[in-house]
Amino acid sequence: MEKADIASMTLPRLTEWVTGELGEPKFRAGQLYRWLHQKRAGSFAEMTDLSAALRARLEQTAFLTAVTTRRRLESRLDGTVKLLLELPDRHCVETVLMRYEHGLSLCISTQVGCRMGCKFCASTLGGLVRNLTPAEMLGEVYEAERQAGEPIASLVLMGIGEPLDNYRNVLDFLTILSSPEGRGLSLRHVSLSTCGLCDRIDELAELGLGLTLSISLHAADDETRSGIMPVNRKYNIARLMKSCKNYFAKTGRRISYEYALIAGVNDTPAHAEALASLLAGQNCHINLIPVNPVAERGTRRPDRSAVRRFADRLNALGQNATVRRELGSDIAAACGQLRRAEAENGCPAPN
Ligand code: SAH
Repeated sequence: MEKADIASMTLPRLTEWVTGELGEPKFRAGQLYRWLHQKRAGSFAEMTDLSAALRARLEQTAFLTAVTTRRRLESRLDGTVKLLLELPDRHCVETVLMRYEHGLSLCISTQVGCRMGCKFCASTLGGLVRNLTPAEMLGEVYEAERQAGEPIASLVLMGIGEPLDNYRNVLDFLTILSSPEGRGLSLRHVSLSTCGLCDRIDELAELGLGLTLSISLHAADDETRSGIMPVNRKYNIARLMKSCKNYFAKTGRRISYEYALIAGVNDTPAHAEALASLLAGQNCHINLIPVNPVAERGTRRPDRSAVRRFADRLNALGQNATVRRELGSDIAAACGQLRRAEAENGCPAPN
């Protein structure tokens, strides 16, 4: 019999399992859930308010998910910490801890690898290996908090992987993360970044979760966007804008658009003007990010003054655009690169 992944179960699901599979009273599910998500037990043996007999049965029927730190890099410039985390099957993902005025912010991965194929991104170079389970995403949060020695204030799903390509697991993860009996982190402090899987964005809008949606836009015309983001051939810009407007209408949450500036691709004043007119009338925010060069990709970032001009042009046209503050630039460059580098040292290779 396959053992149950109990740390991936929402409280209602765990209750069903505890009362059904184990034939135990309902309150045991609450106890177990707190051990998993508040006290963060590393073994069943630690769960001392459960009887020895019950712990032995748990040992036989269920497993815990260990997420451990394989490497830790700390920026000397700003204290940003990048963790290479190892999953139970030895695959690795990256998380990043950043210090802001409002507290610690954590960026986590949602998949091992990615199949979206964006041309400037390191995470997708080896394709998708597998989805992360809810327990593994929670493990990223818990291990990062353990390393930091303090709770995080906010979370972004912006590491390796496309969260909406792992939709069910990401939703269960968010349910557990935000539940008062679990981690209790309000989804108002969580952002989910997507390359634009519109059907999923529409589903998410119906749930009205209070999440902030970040859209990786990177171009305001279909030709340029399809050239760097294959997803645009399935969901073009008009379709994406429809989903974004619907998301705002249904949730009242302002969308944040990500725009990575790539020299010679999407960085001219004409591109800024096209972007401003595309987003005209939307109550949104534009995040400009000078692209992180990825060796295999040959992408270059525009120089500082071109970035500034691009931002100024947008602001002059009435848009709310800021250049993202760069953190941790001395430790591991673009997302996904640490995992690739580490493949040579024993993490299963990203293909
Ligand atoms: N798949 C999701 C989330 C992960 S990528 C998404 O596409 O949004 C997180 C963000 O980093 C996205 O905006 C992505 O486009 C951006 N990104 C990827 N590679 C980058 C690079 N080399 N430089 C700057 N930003 C990059």
